[in-house]
Amino acid sequence: MQRKYSMKQIAKEKMNNFRFPWKKFIGIVCASIAMIIIISFSFILGYRMSEKHTPLIDAAMEIKLEATTAHLWFEEIISGDRNEKIEDVLKHIANAMWYANAMIEGGENPEGTFLPLQEPDFIKKAQEVLEGLGIFKEMTLERFNNFKESGVGSDIDQRFDEVFQNFLEIADQLETELQKTIAKELYQFRVIHILLISFLILLAILIFVLFYKYEKERAINLEVIEDANEKLRLLSMTDGLTGIANKRHFNEYFEKELHRAIREKNPLSIILVDIDHFKKFNDCYGHIVGDDCLIKVANTLKNSFRRPADLVARFGGEEFSIILPNTDEACEYAITCKTAIEALKIPHEQSTTSDVVTVSIGMSSITPNTNSTAIELIQNADKALYRAKESGRNRVVKF
Ligand code: GH3
Ligand code: MG
Ligand code: MG
Repeated sequence: MQRKYSMKQIAKEKMNNFRFPWKKFIGIVCASIAMIIIISFSFILGYRMSEKHTPLIDAAMEIKLEATTAHLWFEEIISGDRNEKIEDVLKHIANAMWYANAMIEGGENPEGTFLPLQEPDFIKKAQEVLEGLGIFKEMTLERFNNFKESGVGSDIDQRFDEVFQNFLEIADQLETELQKTIAKELYQFRVIHILLISFLILLAILIFVLFYKYEKERAINLEVIEDANEKLRLLSMTDGLTGIANKRHFNEYFEKELHRAIREKNPLSIILVDIDHFKKFNDCYGHIVGDDCLIKVANTLKNSFRRPADLVARFGGEEFSIILPNTDEACEYAITCKTAIEALKIPHEQSTTSDVVTVSIGMSSITPNTNSTAIELIQNADKALYRAKESGRNRVVKF
C-alpha cells in the first residue's frame, strides 16, 4: 500500500519523538554555576588583595618608617642638634602608633582606608608592635628627661637601642607575613583565572557542539520535509493505477506548453485514446483483469513517446491523452500507438471490432495564436475521437 505523507503528520511524528535534552541542559547549568562560583571567588580574592592586604602592608611599612625617623631624630637631639625637637620625635612615634592601631581596629587617613586585620595571628603581631611602640615612647621620654646620663654608650642608651631593635624585628615579621599572604593570594588569583579561561573555552566548545548538532538535525529535518514534499508533489501529479501522469498534471502541462506554442508560434498536437468496448471487457474478464489491461495500455503508450517534451496522461476511466509539442508527424505517432496496442494481443472475445483489445484515436494539431484556439484543440480531438467511434472504432481520425 502506498504510504501517504502530509506535513501535519510529519510534524506530529517529530513532536512525538522529541525528547528534551536534559543531560545537555544540566551540563550547561552546572558549567554556568561553576563559572559563577569561580568568578565570585576571583572577585573576593581581588578585593582582599587590593582593598585589604595591600593597604595593610603599606601601614606596616609606615610604622617602620615613622619609628625609624623618630629614632634618628632623637639620636640627633641627644647628640646636641638643636634644630630637632622632642615634639617632632613624639609626633612620629604617635604616627607609627596610629598605623599600628589602624591595623587592629581599622582607620582612615589621606593615604587611604585601612580595614582591620581578621586573622588572630596577625592581630597578635600588630598588638605586639603597638606595645613595642609604647615601650619605645616611654624609653624616649625617660632618656630625654635624663638627658645628662643618657649619652651615647650609656646604660639607658643601650636599653633604648635594645627596645627599638625588638620593635623593628616584630614590625619586620608582621610585614613579611603580610607579604607572604599577598603572594599566596596572587598565586590563587592566577590559578583561578586559568580555571576561568579553561571553563570559558569548555563552555564555548559545548555551546558550539550543541549548536552544530542542532543545525545538522535541522538540515536533516529540512531535507526529510523537502523529500516528503517532493513525493507529495509527484503523488499529486501521478495516476494511482497506471503510474503515468494524471489529468491534473495534464492540465498544468497543457497550459504551459500552450503558452510556449503561442510565444514561439510552434504547432501543438493532442491525441485522445479510448479503449474500445472496455465495459464489455470488464464484464467478461472482471475488474482486476480490466485494471491490468489499463496498465499495459498505459505502458505501451508511454513507451511509444520517448521525446522529453511529450506527455502521456490518463484522462479518465479508459481514456488516455498525449500532448505533443512542436510535432508535425502527430498522425503517424497516433497510428503507431494504435498498432502497438493491438500488438499486445490482449484477448477481448466480446469486442465487435476484433478478438483483441483495440483503441479508437482522435487527434488534432494546431499552431495556436490565442487561448481560445487552444481550447478548440482539445474539443477538436474529442470530436475526432467521437467520429472514430461512430465510424466503427479501432481507427485513427484526424480532425
Ligand atoms: P466505447 O467503445 O464506446 O468506448 O465503449 P466502452 O465500454 O469502452 O465505454 P464506456 O464509457 O461505456 O465504458 C467505459 C468503462 O471503463 C466503464 C468502466 O467499467 C470502465 N472503467 C473505467 N475506469 C476503470 C478502471 O479504473 N478500472 C477498470 N477495470 N475499469 C474501468
Ligand atoms: Mg470512454
Ligand atoms: Mg471506451
